[in-house]
Amino acid sequence: MSQAVAVVASLNVDHIVQAPRIPEPGETLMGFSTSRELGGKGGNQAVAAARLGADVAVIGCVGQDEDGDEYLNALAAEGADVTHVRRSALPTGRAAITVDAEGVNSIVVVAGANADIPAAAAETAIGALPSLRVVAGQLEAAADATERAFAAARERGVLTVLNTAPAADAAGKLLPFSDVVVSNEIEFRQLTGQDPFDGNGLRRGSADLFAAGCRWVIVTLGAEGCAVLDASSSAHVPAVAVRAVDTTAAGDSFVGALAARLAELPGDPITADVVAACGFAAKVAAVVVTRHGAHPSLPTLAEVCAQQE
Ligand code: ADP
Repeated sequence: MSQAVAVVASLNVDHIVQAPRIPEPGETLMGFSTSRELGGKGGNQAVAAARLGADVAVIGCVGQDEDGDEYLNALAAEGADVTHVRRSALPTGRAAITVDAEGVNSIVVVAGANADIPAAAAETAIGALPSLRVVAGQLEAAADATERAFAAARERGVLTVLNTAPAADAAGKLLPFSDVVVSNEIEFRQLTGQDPFDGNGLRRGSADLFAAGCRWVIVTLGAEGCAVLDASSSAHVPAVAVRAVDTTAAGDSFVGALAARLAELPGDPITADVVAACGFAAKVAAVVVTRHGAHPSLPTLAEVCAQQE
């Protein structure tokens, strides 16, 4: 077992409708086309890390249905260890996504099996991965399972990375077990009540997160890049200038790349390592936004390197 990265992961099948605009409440609208893709923030993060060359284990839950079979096969085809993905009596998670003509989306997720990851099994999985360096999680998968996995990882000195997406109250109880917190602008506002584009707001909001127990705060700011803070300093990592066509999975690829890069460090990171890892993650996310979809847009390491040439 050489898995260096584990993701406590939401695994969803996305049902996507292309429409001229997002419908108003109560409105029926004629759309252009439909598609079906594998997604879910956790699954996207795991596949992102695997394509970048990390040895990845997925801790999660799918239904005893065809969607579940398909997702397990897809993860295995990416080289991910699916030993710790369980099958639930609940259906595989699903997202209904409407994308308008500008590429703006609205999403409803039904957690299904993602809410059914047994906390004890998540903790056991961490114990069964001796080479583990980094565990990543988000708020789409069962929070109790993420909490137990993070607590077990922390005890072993394994770095924990919490992506606070989508914004949810469960973030609060996970912060004490999270070394690195990655929030986008909206999540940071909801979590801290502060505006991350305002320097004082960014520092004040981050101070609350440090007080709750985390060591680094990363706030992603779309095409503006990201801010990286520790308790005494802050840095800005610019985004790579590209022509974006679809920002689906930008944040997920960023988190997957960050986890993959942090797992390569020989020891506990220092802030300069976290900043450098964010620079790498920004390059990966820049490729993702130039492509359509979630899994199909996630690049290999060779593709990321080629983009820089
Ligand atoms: P989320 O998808 O979670 O809302 P962001 O939109 O903040 O996250 O994007 C995450 C990262 O992806 C950013 O920090 C940036 O590095 C990259 N990114 C996002 N949008 C663009 C863009 N238009 N051009 C280049 N990079 C982008």
